[in-house]
Amino acid sequence: MMMNKWTHEKIQEIFHRPIPDLIYKAQSILRENFPKNTVQINKLISIKTGQCPEDCSYCPQSARYNTDINKGTLEESQILEIAEKAIEQNVSKVCLGAAWREVKDGREFDSILKIIKKIKSLKLEVCCTLGMLNSEQAKKLKEAGLDIYNHNIDTSPQYYNEIIGTRSFQQRIDTIKNVRNAGLSVCSGGIIGMGEKDEDIIEMIKILANMSPQPESVPINALVATEGTPLQDMKKVSIWKWVRTIATARITLPKTFIRLAAGRYGRTQEEQTLCLLAGANSIFTGEQLLTSKNELPNKDYQLFKDIGLKPLRR
Ligand code: SF4
Repeated sequence: MMMNKWTHEKIQEIFHRPIPDLIYKAQSILRENFPKNTVQINKLISIKTGQCPEDCSYCPQSARYNTDINKGTLEESQILEIAEKAIEQNVSKVCLGAAWREVKDGREFDSILKIIKKIKSLKLEVCCTLGMLNSEQAKKLKEAGLDIYNHNIDTSPQYYNEIIGTRSFQQRIDTIKNVRNAGLSVCSGGIIGMGEKDEDIIEMIKILANMSPQPESVPINALVATEGTPLQDMKKVSIWKWVRTIATARITLPKTFIRLAAGRYGRTQEEQTLCLLAGANSIFTGEQLLTSKNELPNKDYQLFKDIGLKPLRR
């Protein structure tokens, strides 16, 4: 699954280029691989929120931290209603997220398989993020019609243990392998602004870029520091670091959807535009992104109109 085309030194050289050079190169590569001036619009639905046994330091859904979130599980009818509404918002892909350590066989998993079939019948692409997955479960998801599975590597292997103690970096890689071997597309990315060094971001991109085949989708999140989590006092990551990360991901993962994911809320429209110029071509729509605030859809559509971007459907 791994090849070593991209070295740390090469990615480091790209990451530190002057911003105009970076944006120019990243935008050129984007245009060679996707229709120009387009953006993929995704809808994330949290089907089970909170009470997660894992200890990811950035996450308000961990049962170990005292955070103010609306915990609960959505019914099938509620999920389908949100998915149907999403079509009106030009959404091409629905992502179902559950705060689980891993998928367990049984009633809950079976109901997700059923929901996937129903959402597929609406002619939407479907992604799931349900935690760790074995190869049998990955096959069942594929058979149900799932297109893509999200499992982030979060950060570099070197910094990983500072952030998560309850599952290893290797376990994440194993889940990604199971996903790929089942014939599903892979969505995997990470989070910046967790106190990591530039070298960690470079290393994270190196691992993603050297996957063979490369992930079809790479979300780049900027930490939303949430009260009650161990990372609550982290400062907002600089826009230039976000732009550098996105552009470097675009240059090294040319055919991948690079998603400007969590962390958009509270950024100016100009800052978000810089990220789109730097090669991001995918966003989440909706006022809520799991437990954190997201841009209002109307604001997004106004921005796309102002700068001339069109929704991309495949
Ligand atoms: S990131 Fe996922 S696995 Fe980690 S605590 Fe949050 S919901 Fe659980």
